Amino acid sequence: MNGALTKAAACGLAGCHACGRVVAVSQGRCPRCGSRLHLRKPASIQRTIALMIAAAVLYIPSHLLPIMTAVELGDVTQHTIISGMITFWKEGSYPIAIVIFTASILIPFLKIVTLIWLCAAATGRVRPSPSMLGRIYWFTELLGRWSMVDIFVVGIVVSLMQLGNYMSVAPGPGALAFAGVVVLTMFAAMSFEPRLLWDRLDEQLTAVPVAHP
Ligand SMILES: [Zn+2]
Repeated sequence: MNGALTKAAACGLAGCHACGRVVAVSQGRCPRCGSRLHLRKPASIQRTIALMIAAAVLYIPSHLLPIMTAVELGDVTQHTIISGMITFWKEGSYPIAIVIFTASILIPFLKIVTLIWLCAAATGRVRPSPSMLGRIYWFTELLGRWSMVDIFVVGIVVSLMQLGNYMSVAPGPGALAFAGVVVLTMFAAMSFEPRLLWDRLDEQLTAVPVAHP
């Protein structure tokens, strides 16, 4: 089965990143929409890794710095994401605590780890079996569909706190760092070129290297 089909890249054909038209990459630009043509996204792995490192660095202050400052009858209390989650848990609001944990701690962490792992797989630093690679890629796609849930949850938590009487809530520096994590992981996922993974698998299976310009 494998190797029976000729790949478009081997024929010098590229799908336009903007409109999807298949054109000879030698034309330089898409004749329909004028976008620049590439067989693969240029410097995809380097951009993805740089953005993920920045996201991983911001992930730490996003959990250590207060995400909100609540003022209640003159009492000022500062909450990090984790302390807010613990407060909800202690008050018996288990579903909210679980949603906060999943959306603000687990999903961003898994996004960072899986994308860095996929970059390692695309460059041949790890050599997973094809089925494992497929499963982890599918999982990353699944996480990507929930990419905005994390920031949405933080918004809901702030509005829940805001509902209390005589209370005002202001966002803290942790919120800015957390927004940075969300935006950087989104851009990293957009920069990643999944076809590099399948090229790598083809190389492993056929031992015929695919040229990338
Ligand atoms: Zn086009």
